[in-house]
Amino acid sequence: MPLPDIDKIISAIQSVIRPKNEGPVALHEPCFNGNEWKYIKACLDSTWVSYVGKYVDRFEEMIADYTGVRKVVVVVNGTAALQIALKVVGVKAGDEVLIPALTFVATANAVAHCGAIPHFVDSEEKTLGIAPLKLKEYLKEIARPDTSGCKNKKTGNRIKAIIPMHTFGHPVDLDPLLEISREYKLEMIEDAAESLGSFYKGKHTGNWGKLSILSFNGNKTITTGGGGAIITNDEVLGKLAKHLTTTAKIPHRWEYRHDHIGYNYRLPNINAALGCAQMEQLPGFLAKKRALAARYKQAFAGVAGVRFFREPPHAKSNYWLNALLLDEASLARRNQLLEKTNDAGIMTRPAWVLLNKLAMFQDCPCMDLSGAEDLEARLINIPSSAVLGE
Ligand SMILES: *Cc1c(COP(=O)(O)O)cnc(C)c1O
Repeated sequence: MPLPDIDKIISAIQSVIRPKNEGPVALHEPCFNGNEWKYIKACLDSTWVSYVGKYVDRFEEMIADYTGVRKVVVVVNGTAALQIALKVVGVKAGDEVLIPALTFVATANAVAHCGAIPHFVDSEEKTLGIAPLKLKEYLKEIARPDTSGCKNKKTGNRIKAIIPMHTFGHPVDLDPLLEISREYKLEMIEDAAESLGSFYKGKHTGNWGKLSILSFNGNKTITTGGGGAIITNDEVLGKLAKHLTTTAKIPHRWEYRHDHIGYNYRLPNINAALGCAQMEQLPGFLAKKRALAARYKQAFAGVAGVRFFREPPHAKSNYWLNALLLDEASLARRNQLLEKTNDAGIMTRPAWVLLNKLAMFQDCPCMDLSGAEDLEARLINIPSSAVLGE
C-alpha cells in the first residue's frame, strides 16, 4: 500500500486556518474580548483581590446555572478540585482508583495526592474515553464487591472510585459506567476538566458523578489564568468541599477555629472576575469552536489516511481540542507530520504518553491497554482556538 500523502493532510489543516492567519498558530489560545478588563479593574479599585469579594460567588452561580448542577465550589486549579472530590467521597490512602491510562497526568496525580493508587483502564475509539464493556469483563475477573465496598482480588486493596474523563471535550459513554459503578460499589467522579460546554444525552457533563471537576487553566475552553471547580448535585458533599478548600474554618466574626486539616485551595476574587467575563462569552466560544470543527470535518472528508474525530452519537461536544486519527498506513509518517506542521508554525501534538508508562506510575495496576495504546499512537491534536472559527 502506498504511504498516504502527508502534504495533503497539511494542506487540509492549512485550508481551514491559514485564510485568517499568517503567523504561528497555537493549539489553543485564550480570548479576552469581553468584560475582563472591566471586572478586573473593579477588583483592583475595590481592593478585594483575594479571598473575599463578589466575583467568587457570582462565578459559582454562573457555572451552576450553565451546567445545571446544584453546588459549585471554585478552587485554584482542576488538580486540586479532583484531589478534594476524591477525599470527599472517602478515598483513603492505599485505595485504588480506576482511571483511564489515556488522560492528562493531573488525573493520576490527584489520586496519588490522596495517597491512593491509580489503577489504569482501557479506552475505546468510539468516545476516546473508558471502554465500558471491556472494563466490565475485567472487573468480573479481578474485583469482588463486598459489604465494605469492592476488593481487588489480585492486590487485596479496596477499589474505591472510578474517574471517567471526557477526552478533548468528547463525552464518554456515562450510562454503562454508572451501571458498573453501582454494581461494584464504586464512587464515580467525572473528570470534566476538558468538557465545559459538552453534553451527554442532553445534560451537561459533570451531572453523573457524585462530584465532578472542571479546569480553567490557560488552554481550556474558558480560563481564569489558573482555576478549577468542584461541581455536584449533592449539597451536603458540596458544602463539605467548600469547607475543606477554605481552610475548614468555622464561620465566626473574629474567632479562628478550624475543625479539619483543611486546604487553602480557594480561587482568588481577581481570578473569579476573569471567570465571570469568560462565562459570559462561553456560548460564543462554543459556536466558534463548533464552526471550526465543521470546517475541519469538511476539509478532511476526502483526505486519505486520516479521519477527523467527531462527537460520539450520544453527545454534543465542545470540541475543546480537535483531533485527527491516523490510520495504520499513516503511522509510519506520524513524526514527519508533527515535524512538518510545527516547522510551518502550525502547532500539532500527539495525545499524552500513556500514564502507566511514566516512571512514577509504572508499577500501578493496569488492565490490558491495547485500545489506549492504539489511540496513543494514532491521535494528533490540531489547532483549536475559538478565534479560528470566526
Ligand atoms: C486540565 C486537566 C486537568 C486539571 O488541570 P489543572 O491544570 O490542574 O487545572 C485535569 N484533568 C484533565 C484531563 C485535564 O485536561
